[in-house]
Amino acid sequence: MSNVEETTLFLDLDALSHNYHYLKSKIENGAKFLGVVKAFAYGSDMVAIAKKLEALGADYLAVAYAKEGVLLRNAGLTLPILVLHPLKANFEEVIQYNLEPNLYSEKIIADFIYLAEQKGVKKYLVHLKFNTGLNRLGLKAENIENIANKINQTESVFIKSVLSHLAASEDLEEKTFSTNQIAHFIKDTNALSKLIGYKPMMHMCNTSGILNYPEAHFDMVRSGIGLYGYGNEAKYDKELKPVATLKTVISQIHSIEKGESIGYNRAFVADKPMRTATLPIGHADGIGRQYGNGKTAVQIHQHWAPIIGNVCMDMIMVDVTGIPCQEGDEVLLFGANHSADKMAGTAKTISYELLTGIGARVKRKIL
Ligand SMILES: *Cc1c(COP(=O)(O)O)cnc(C)c1O
Repeated sequence: MSNVEETTLFLDLDALSHNYHYLKSKIENGAKFLGVVKAFAYGSDMVAIAKKLEALGADYLAVAYAKEGVLLRNAGLTLPILVLHPLKANFEEVIQYNLEPNLYSEKIIADFIYLAEQKGVKKYLVHLKFNTGLNRLGLKAENIENIANKINQTESVFIKSVLSHLAASEDLEEKTFSTNQIAHFIKDTNALSKLIGYKPMMHMCNTSGILNYPEAHFDMVRSGIGLYGYGNEAKYDKELKPVATLKTVISQIHSIEKGESIGYNRAFVADKPMRTATLPIGHADGIGRQYGNGKTAVQIHQHWAPIIGNVCMDMIMVDVTGIPCQEGDEVLLFGANHSADKMAGTAKTISYELLTGIGARVKRKIL
């Protein structure tokens, strides 16, 4: 990894390729592969990741919001793009940019069909989401008859796939619940297929679903976190390689006397003489205040340096007492040897939140 001169998120596309092939190797029924690149590809670089996935042979991409799909189209991506959470306000753009909406309620289906008919489009590819227990987005069994009628009365849409989402795919204690979700999904799909006269593709598994529920791979799987190198479980983390490594540099070193305080609101007071380093990264860059006050440490030349005092918007201060280091030296926040999952755990959150929170002003460098 090249010299670090400012806060930089290094993105290892070979790691992405490794993770893609690892996840593919877990799919035994030939199911298609959808790469989830929402939220700036989990805080990394959506366009670079999407292009790499396209080159690797992924079948589909997914984003959460239409705007993200527009960015991908403007960058030249031609893969089908599923928009997981479209809103009525986005439908013009959805059609204009050839994005495929995931329709999740009777109202949103009616709204989309209305616009598609007005525009005179035929057999526009859409996806239907079933709520099988997550209770977030999706249709229930009781909606099926109404939607089937609605779909049968129009030529404007074609149901490319049906999908559902597992609520606890990473938690094997919830296996009964997940298995029940899978059964529901099959039942709902069959009921719908019968009424519309064709069988859409089915997909349900996110990363942990791919790893823990091979019986639910169906026609496609949807992976996000696994592609970025995290498997929600130590045994899978070992097989995957983190794509993102966050590094920064030491801006300034201070010698602190016993009794002096450090940072805002004097949250830390030295009980002995110490050495501190100030780093150019703060809560505006995604290192939230929950990482402060000794909860979390960064790595400097393989030594752990705890964050002391309150995290500031643009800076953190770390304890480097006894650590041989100087201004300009490199600092590791997370990456291959200190996983984002472990760092997130120190503040009782998860890798997803830490990764997606890395601020827009942090430089991205593709390796
Ligand atoms: C974000 C998301 C995924 C990807 O989940 P990972 O756990 O990151 O693999 C898959 N499906 C849906 C519906 C999602 O919202």
